[in-house]
Amino acid sequence: MAAESYDRTEGLSNLLDSSKIHAMDAAILAVGSELLGTDRLDTNSLLLTRTLGAFGVELQRKVVTGDDVEAIVQEVGRLSRVVDLLLITGGLGPTADDLTREGVARALERRLIADDEMLDDIRRKFERFGMSMPEVNRRQAELIEGASWLINSRGTAPGMQIDTDDCVLFLFPGVPTELERMIESSLIPWLEEHSEGLQTETGIVRVACLSESTVEERIQPAYEEFGRERISVLASPADIQVRVLVTGRAEERARELEAMTDRIAGLVGRAAYSRDADGTLESVVGELLSAAGKKVATAESCTGGLVAERLTRVPGSSEFFEGATVTYSNRLKRELLGVKADTLDRHGAVSREVVEQMAVGVVARLNSDLGVAISGVAGPSGGTAAKPVGTVHVAVAEAGSEDVDHQELHLPGDRRRVRRLASQWALEMLRGRLLR
Ligand code: ATP
Ligand code: MG
Repeated sequence: MAAESYDRTEGLSNLLDSSKIHAMDAAILAVGSELLGTDRLDTNSLLLTRTLGAFGVELQRKVVTGDDVEAIVQEVGRLSRVVDLLLITGGLGPTADDLTREGVARALERRLIADDEMLDDIRRKFERFGMSMPEVNRRQAELIEGASWLINSRGTAPGMQIDTDDCVLFLFPGVPTELERMIESSLIPWLEEHSEGLQTETGIVRVACLSESTVEERIQPAYEEFGRERISVLASPADIQVRVLVTGRAEERARELEAMTDRIAGLVGRAAYSRDADGTLESVVGELLSAAGKKVATAESCTGGLVAERLTRVPGSSEFFEGATVTYSNRLKRELLGVKADTLDRHGAVSREVVEQMAVGVVARLNSDLGVAISGVAGPSGGTAAKPVGTVHVAVAEAGSEDVDHQELHLPGDRRRVRRLASQWALEMLRGRLLR
């Protein structure tokens, strides 16, 4: 939610009561010089992020500062102006480098007030362990003006909650086990009260064999319609996931999720193959084959059976998978698939002509409805000027049809990647054939 999109002076409850649902937005500030080094990871913000996510709160910023009061003042001042909820961890300890109290107080232009009751409380905690409270721990009983204490049942440093006109701030200790407990005792109850059934859900549109930039370009209108921050593109080779975030109450959430993924799938076009997180390309191809009552057989050279392996990963693949040949040598291409010696001589194994004969051959020899064939140069050696590493031919043939689909690909990357990409294209061509 854009900070400007509502009148902040109306406060949070109005915001969340309004009929149009806005997600609350939040920032996390982790304080601790050790977090800027290489020895200690800021894992507290992950705990906090998970909690926020469950309540549909949009995390806008994650910031780490050292134990540096000026930095804390600056970040708290800045963040509390742009988000509804600011969660701060660390720097509540008793020592001189624990500066969060002071930094937050200065940022909000509030005083620090010694709280005698809290001081007694902390003193008693020490006495319970047979110790007397060190003088330095007095600082932990200093309350920021207008704040309320948050009980820390696992440590001495209490937390604080401060409601300002702009923002609600939570100050939590940095010790992970203490924070964990306080998320449960303080943050979750607050979120429950203020999120009113709002939750965030992720939707997905999976896309095969388009470049990341093409996908970006096509879904541009969706960025404008739904907000760029709600859509993310996760790319892996020839397989892209467009993720959408929807926040709302159950029903609206489902409706909006569908509307968004519909729109994005529509913009992407036919390359959008699934809206299911588990809907791999091979499983989608399997479903299409099953729905058509057809079976496929494969004839693979450079992929060594990878397409067959992927198809048989799908549970129940016997319904749509006839079987496979891995015809690496020219001899087997001739003997098992009926590729003509003359074609091999004239065009070489990595050619349109050969791969088309392989596809037609595997349909005939294995008596399947469809056949997919791959031949290529996976590298690192074997490339020539005319057929460099990454040159791959793929063909799809169908029983009773003269019409054989073919593509010549020039795939980037090392051997592993070329093979993976080739299998992806083969499955995608098969899908294209089934959608015709
Ligand atoms: P407290 O407010 O409880 O005193 P603090 O951060 O001031 O916490 P530290 O001594 O700096 O006290 O930290 C306590 C322990 O918690 C240290 O081991 C520290 O590395 C760890 N810690 C602090 N912040 C984080 C964080 N964001 N993620 C993971 N561990 C953290
Ligand atoms: Mg610290």
